Amino acid sequence: MRTAIVVHGGAWNIPDDLVEDHVRGTSRAAREGWKVLSRGGSALDAVEAAVRVMEDDPTFDAGVGSFLNEEGFVELDAAIMDGRDLKAGAVGAVRRVRHPVTLARAVMERTEHVMLVGEGAERLAERLGLEMCAPGDLIVERELERWRRERERERAGGGGRPPDIFSGGTVGAAALDDSGNLAAAVSTGGTPFKMVGRVGDSPIVGAGLYADGEVGAAVSTGWGEGIMRVLMAKAAVDALAAGADPGAAAEGALDILLRRTGGRGGLIVLDREGEIGLAHTTARMAYAYIRPGGGVEAGVLVGGG
Ligand code: ASP
Repeated sequence: MRTAIVVHGGAWNIPDDLVEDHVRGTSRAAREGWKVLSRGGSALDAVEAAVRVMEDDPTFDAGVGSFLNEEGFVELDAAIMDGRDLKAGAVGAVRRVRHPVTLARAVMERTEHVMLVGEGAERLAERLGLEMCAPGDLIVERELERWRRERERERAGGGGRPPDIFSGGTVGAAALDDSGNLAAAVSTGGTPFKMVGRVGDSPIVGAGLYADGEVGAAVSTGWGEGIMRVLMAKAAVDALAAGADPGAAAEGALDILLRRTGGRGGLIVLDREGEIGLAHTTARMAYAYIRPGGGVEAGVLVGGG
């Protein structure tokens, strides 16, 4: 068994001028997670640390820099899962929390519940002294411009969304620690111009993420409305349990998404031996991983869609 961390920085049509930022951001996140693992820390601490780095990085659709909803503000979803005991925590549609993944962990560890949304989730964050922010602190100029363009298009009766509106995505991480424990985490601003209150696949256990210490872990990105109907992360972990290797498990789950819903996405999968699978059916997907003896392997995969 080997320690390992794998992260993704979203799928879709990552534009050429943002590719380098995605590679840098996912690499930094993987290194931060690896730091935790290499000093004997838990997989749970490692995935939280990695995701926090990407929530702080405006490159990604998570934390600061997220897509804006139809009313022009950010609502964040996140989740975390511990493969040791299948414990999970999730938050949906939070507006004032700097690190939703840490709040998701607090839901898991400090409440009797698995998911809190909106105001209730924010109240817990405040009560526990987690870092809060003003909704405007999560907005960057790039996304404000995208939102203005989209609003103009809608006003002009512009029909369906242009495909390039989806320029990046959710962030996620899966890790295997020294003691053989697996964990997964995910964080997102969801989809651009989504309805207020829309919650995607990411915080739904089995859809956005799954970690089973007896089998493996998987984290999704892509079209949430499809992913949550096929429970894509669980489908990948089930494929591992049935004997598929991580790459085949990821491809099989994405195939179910496409065949049954017409949706596209990406997956990272990690098994109990530290073997990693990456697959996507979107145009691109950003990733990074570290395994013992190797440096960080990072890049943007192309040609999945
Ligand atoms: N799956 C995310 C959602 O639907 C978006 C993404 O991964 O790009 O909220």
